[in-house]
Amino acid sequence: MRARLLNAPIAAPGLLHSLRGLLSRHSTRALSTEEREDLTLAQLRATRPIVSGVLLCGAVLLAITALFDMAGVTPSIGYPVWSQLLASTVVAGCAAGVSRMVSWQHRLLLMLLATLITGIFMSMPLPGSTGQLALRTGLFQLLPLALMALMVRPVSLFALALLIVVMALLRIVLYGAPGTGSALYWLYTLTTIGFGLVLAGYRTDFAVSAWQMRRRLVRQAHTDELTGLLNRNGWNEHAVSAHARAVAAGVPVAVAVLDIDYFKRINDRHGHDGGDAVLQRLGDIMRARVGANGCAARIGGEEFAVLLEGEDALSARAFAERVRGEFGKEQGGVVATLSAGIAEHRPGETLRDQMRRADGALYDAKREGRDRVNVADVS
Ligand code: GH3
Ligand code: MG
Ligand code: MG
Repeated sequence: MRARLLNAPIAAPGLLHSLRGLLSRHSTRALSTEEREDLTLAQLRATRPIVSGVLLCGAVLLAITALFDMAGVTPSIGYPVWSQLLASTVVAGCAAGVSRMVSWQHRLLLMLLATLITGIFMSMPLPGSTGQLALRTGLFQLLPLALMALMVRPVSLFALALLIVVMALLRIVLYGAPGTGSALYWLYTLTTIGFGLVLAGYRTDFAVSAWQMRRRLVRQAHTDELTGLLNRNGWNEHAVSAHARAVAAGVPVAVAVLDIDYFKRINDRHGHDGGDAVLQRLGDIMRARVGANGCAARIGGEEFAVLLEGEDALSARAFAERVRGEFGKEQGGVVATLSAGIAEHRPGETLRDQMRRADGALYDAKREGRDRVNVADVS
């Protein structure tokens, strides 16, 4: 306890830092910076059309109020009808901008502008207004409440909450509090902000769990359960993009296809579990040599593949020989060997064609007696 107190940071964290700490959810604290950024981008993508929809509702609300005013259905709200229609058009423009703009800062500015305009028309009557103030104020509060629930970045949440406070302050300073009195008006305003924060928090929690579930499913769909390497699905996804990246960058890229020799016999002699242990061992060797971010996969029962970016046939052969050497050592009374086929990329060749040549080289290695590495002809 004492040590913990002694180790506690002495300097008070900055305002922004403490705000972020206050607003950050328990569900996101365990995530790394990159994961958090990825999650934020996913949330921004998902909420963008809804934010735009809420703003469009505000524009429609302004237009309806103007039309009611024009038709004499309701008393005037104190603003000329043309200005209400203009405000409605600007807010609709902001809604369209939010749905199209890529930069979140620009979207935030548009959203704040639309909220401000709606607020001015909904909660700030010109002198002499006899409009339905309570209803309009309520409608104005609903719009930022819905928007707060949709905010992803703490700074956006903070900006919106600040705007609500400033609007309430302006309303009281310029026109006095509504009939309920300023204490109740403030209570009402702060309740809106409180609900907004709670809703934003729960929405974030849902977004985090959906994002984590999606990542888990994608990882599972791409991973071979037995070896932890990529499975065929994962290989198709990762290897194709890594291959395209290497080709575009003009660096050599080689593929190696490895197949355990007489694996059926290993299964027969040591049982299926013994066979599985051999597969796992080869998986471990490949992962250790390729690295966690490398592209190594179990693409079939006892067939493995690896994509070697930046390596030509010679260095790919050396790689496969090292794997073969290590795998060939006796382990727990089991002796297993492997054969491999290598193909270096030829100009204009697809990964599929390159794999086909590596497969051909593997077939030759099997034919020539197994326990060897064979390189496919470049021609
Ligand atoms: P070759 O040297 O020509 O490659 O002969 P092989 O016996 O290794 O090849 P073959 O394709 O005839 O047999 C592959 C065997 O791999 C057949 C299958 O029972 C076994 N196998 C496939 N998947 C698994 C697995 O997940 N675990 C175990 N233990 N065996 C598997
Ligand atoms: Mg085999
Ligand atoms: Mg095979």
